[in-house]
Amino acid sequence: SIPLGYFGGIGGASRRGILIKGANFIETLANLDIVVFDKTGTLTKGVFKVNDVKPANNFAAQEVLRMAAYAETYSNHPIAKSIVEAYGDTIEKSLVTDYKEIVGHGIMAKVEGKQVLAGNEKLLKSRGIEIKINEDGLVGTVVHIAVNGIYAGRITISDEIRLDSAKAVKELRNLGVKRVVMLTGDTKETAKYVSEALNLDEYYAELLPQEKVEKLEELKGDDRTRYKVAFVGDGINDAPVIACADVGIAMGGLGSDAAIEAADVVIMEDMPSKIAEAIRIARYTKNIIV
Ligand code: ADP
Ligand code: MG
Repeated sequence: SIPLGYFGGIGGASRRGILIKGANFIETLANLDIVVFDKTGTLTKGVFKVNDVKPANNFAAQEVLRMAAYAETYSNHPIAKSIVEAYGDTIEKSLVTDYKEIVGHGIMAKVEGKQVLAGNEKLLKSRGIEIKINEDGLVGTVVHIAVNGIYAGRITISDEIRLDSAKAVKELRNLGVKRVVMLTGDTKETAKYVSEALNLDEYYAELLPQEKVEKLEELKGDDRTRYKVAFVGDGINDAPVIACADVGIAMGGLGSDAAIEAADVVIMEDMPSKIAEAIRIARYTKNIIV
């Protein structure tokens, strides 16, 4: 049975913008071993800005941006929104047909009847398209574009690390959390950059949503050493991982309904350090009850 005082703890947390969906999660929050964060929209702002367009194979930069913006018109992904915004002109949606969004990869659509791909290396490679440009030192997220099977160029987009993320990592460590980990569908380069900036213990990159679930299961350990694991996501594509964690946490009022539904804890503000606060409240609640 659950001590009555746990409900007081839940009330106190909710006044601080932390919604805990059941008294049993007080117990788990108080004893977390590993906190796993999603990258985009969680440790970073998830607000992307286009900062470079590099055409290839005789395409013009403006045409690359236009094709990408048309292909991305129907997507809610922050990457898509930044491309549409950078393009700036009105988009005639009737020119976009056969639209398909492939989770963790990007977009396939016809624009004026031309087959357009806009997404990461995995997407283009899976369609047998070779990427011509390869530069070192890129830290931004790269969206590659192909038109009718020909590589047309790439768009570099940058996101920013939240100021609050470094504080969150420090506080979690001070609370005795053993490992702070990041999972992302983004490239290894971007993941490494964010991980080093935040002094994370580990990161895993280029993961599809299902692979994030598998990685989380792995982090839980086995019967002999079963770690208590929290996953924190912004809800774009990560409802399955949220559901799989011992404590699934959805951050930000912007999360999808599916993620808020799947979550055990909802953080109302976009502040990763609220996870540390939730742990402190859980421990305090437990201590005043026993
Ligand atoms: P994260 O795991 O960092 O939250 P996602 O799983 O949402 O990222 O996306 C993983 C990767 O898939 C992105 O970094 C991007 O390369 C690609 N991607 C996803 N959606 C789109 C899109 N609409 N347009 C272009 N690329 C996309
Ligand atoms: Mg995400």
